[in-house]
Amino acid sequence: MPPIERAAALGRVADVLERDTEEIARAEALDTGKRYAEALLDVDDVLSVFRYYAGRGEEVERPREVDPGVEGVHSVVHREPIGVCSLVTPWNYPLLQASWKVAPCLLAGNTFVLKPSEITPHSTMLMVRAVQEAGVPAGVANLVLGTGPGCAGPLSTDPRVDLVSFTGSLAVGKHLMREAAGTVKRVALELGGKNPNIVFADADREAAIDNAMTAVFLHSGQVCSAGARLLVEESVKDEVVDAVVERARGIRMGPPFDEDAQTGSLTSAQHLAKVEDYVATGLAEGATLRCGGGRPDDPALADGYYYLPTVLDDCRLDMHVVQEESFGPVLTVETFRTEEEAVALANGTVYGLAGAVWTSDRDKARRVARALRLGTVWVNDYHPYVAPAEWGGHKQSGIGRELGELGLEEYQETKHVWENTTPAPTGWFG
Ligand code: NAD
Repeated sequence: MPPIERAAALGRVADVLERDTEEIARAEALDTGKRYAEALLDVDDVLSVFRYYAGRGEEVERPREVDPGVEGVHSVVHREPIGVCSLVTPWNYPLLQASWKVAPCLLAGNTFVLKPSEITPHSTMLMVRAVQEAGVPAGVANLVLGTGPGCAGPLSTDPRVDLVSFTGSLAVGKHLMREAAGTVKRVALELGGKNPNIVFADADREAAIDNAMTAVFLHSGQVCSAGARLLVEESVKDEVVDAVVERARGIRMGPPFDEDAQTGSLTSAQHLAKVEDYVATGLAEGATLRCGGGRPDDPALADGYYYLPTVLDDCRLDMHVVQEESFGPVLTVETFRTEEEAVALANGTVYGLAGAVWTSDRDKARRVARALRLGTVWVNDYHPYVAPAEWGGHKQSGIGRELGELGLEEYQETKHVWENTTPAPTGWFG
């Protein structure tokens, strides 16, 4: 298919997904445990990803002429599809993470084999159905279902695969990178984050406190960019943390279709156990439990994998619960006195995905944003992203970018064609 037709097909995928929004959101909510209302928002986000790439058909393969500096030579850099792409996705935002890969992959003219998480495959099946309904030729879009080692393993070693694009945990990302090295595949990795949310004393206090809540407790903290580390200037620490604790105690949890619920459960029993372990380790290492720290008492929630919004105060950079992703509704609090100290703490983990700075001083905000080794920095905000802006991690949060221009280039090879219009002997060897 020429690029313009591929782009049109992406537009049709968006139309089909929009038509089936309720069915898809329902599947996503039931698989993940998130609120149905949030799953509806996820579908909206997915539509905007498909429509963003659908609008780029004309530029996707536009060749770039370069000046070779030599008479009689026509020199052009082409952009071509890479080939067969393995796309491996996690369980926290199953549909959204798949869309960040599927849309640019198809626009660039590749074929793919997509493997969703075995915990949450349902919405991805509906997305692939939409791709087929949109008229993408048979064999282009392929779906395999199964566990990681059983399914994604072969997808990263098979010599017929040209690119592995993976979103998931750091440990599995490292493993797939080693596997892909055997046949020198292109590797794109979107891994975890341990994201700092820095609140200076001069910040709009109410906005900072309110956003500190959504930063970490949205989707029960199962967000790669969750602001799970609150770094707060010492002079306002008590005021900020007391307010967060009070509000965290009031969060209402419930199943996906409970309209009074503000957040859902964790996605699996295994993940619940992991979050419990991290909190226990944090307490053993000296953190102070301010709220949460266990499962709710409410008998109506006894059957779900619910975990109370938790705030751990008096945390230090060397604690496991600060360094590693608990990926649950667990906020750790550290304090700082100076801008330099805030930056040093924020940069003090192996991760570098995202984070925020709260201050009313624009110069300070910009200085700190420049100094943070993060793929995304929000100033006086938390969480928003847009399809035209690249997303990805510094340091061990990943390799490569999704979304935006670079998110498309991940799925393209370049080829330089040097065409000599006046061939002649060089005479080099006489
Ligand atoms: P995971 O690494 O356990 O699994 C991700 C995918 O890899 C799944 O499809 C799984 O089946 C597969 N997999 C698991 N073990 C495998 C193995 N040994 N070999 C091959 N494949 C294997 O991650 P998860 O728990 O599903 O997702 C949560 C993680 O994803 C968190 O670390 C989170 O930060 C990260 N994440 C990152 C982003 C981002 O944009 N950077 C977005 C969403 C999630």
